[in-house]
Amino acid sequence: MKTIIINAHVISPGVEIRRATVVLERGKIKSVAASKAGEKPSLKVGDTLVDAKGAYLMPGFIDVHTHGALGCDFCDPDGNAIFEVSKAKLQEGVTSYFPTTLTVSRAELIKAAKNAKKYADAGMPYAKIPGIHLEGPYINVKCCGAQNPKFVRSPSVKELDAIRKVYPVVQISYAPETKGGAQFAKACIERGVVPSCGHTGAKLAELMPAYREGLRHMTHFCNQMTPLHHREIGMVGAGFLIDDLDIEVICDRIHLCDDMLRLIFLKRDLAHVQIITDSLRCSHCDDGYAFEMGGLKVLLKNGEARLVEGGNLAGSTLWMGDGLKNVHEVTGLPLKDLVRCTSWNQAIEHGWGKQLGKVEKGFIADLVLIDKKTWRPSAVFVDGIQKM
Ligand SMILES: [Zn+2]
Repeated sequence: MKTIIINAHVISPGVEIRRATVVLERGKIKSVAASKAGEKPSLKVGDTLVDAKGAYLMPGFIDVHTHGALGCDFCDPDGNAIFEVSKAKLQEGVTSYFPTTLTVSRAELIKAAKNAKKYADAGMPYAKIPGIHLEGPYINVKCCGAQNPKFVRSPSVKELDAIRKVYPVVQISYAPETKGGAQFAKACIERGVVPSCGHTGAKLAELMPAYREGLRHMTHFCNQMTPLHHREIGMVGAGFLIDDLDIEVICDRIHLCDDMLRLIFLKRDLAHVQIITDSLRCSHCDDGYAFEMGGLKVLLKNGEARLVEGGNLAGSTLWMGDGLKNVHEVTGLPLKDLVRCTSWNQAIEHGWGKQLGKVEKGFIADLVLIDKKTWRPSAVFVDGIQKM
């Protein structure tokens, strides 16, 4: 029982094949081979043929930072929310993602983890969730952005462990300059959790103790962190200076201007850049949609989700594929170079880089077919099974 994808324009890190046949079997990619127009593969009983009709075939997207979609947020107590969000993410071509929490109470974090477990126990019917991403609550109260300052607190390994007991935590965004910030990075790494510098007012020197303990990730680079100044380069400067920091970038052309996208993608090592959506419940929704986030009112207007009070950006409505398309258009870089920023880099950081994030023989068959005109997915495969 094989799935044979014909006429695919394969885009994989460092590889572009304009016309290819890709065979999937037992959840893995069995072969990737260039083909000629009109070439017909031999089918056996039970095999499935998919004609990509020239669409891009890319590694399924991995979104390490996303809160919600379709009117649902991962922090909603309703256990159905994560099913809805996972369904929406799958529609974007996301095959794995880290449901991301807000800065909320401990009880709400535990409830979110319980809901993640429920989704996992149900067999993860849509996009997969290897673990959750805690955005806060251990952030700098001066750099909250759209996070509610009421729930900001100091790093607590105890609290982290209580959440991990319910469901794996794969990433935590916190302010490294907070008291105990460096030891917290160490504790995270010991637990297989990626510590990430985010919602931070740190100076470069305040990042370094956590960096020395192994912190190598930055949450939504440039947003809610100390800007670059020529006498104190801040976290933005750190992101440019230190090559091996994996930086998350919201590529909706709203959170960062086009020139900053150029600066990042043209000057930085692409091996350490991760495109994220940081999408909220208003993604996949229409303009005018209003909602509350961690107790704060947000309105979606002209595609921008902003706090009603103060006007801070509250996250995005971006789809992963559009993020890739935006960077491709803004920088002119080839897709085969940029595509590592939507899956493979993320996989490498979490130790899955030898089996996930490439359209290559032996890799897990998490794939997306992207229509070249609309940039909308026409098919999505998770573990070799066509789910959309
Ligand atoms: Zn976020």
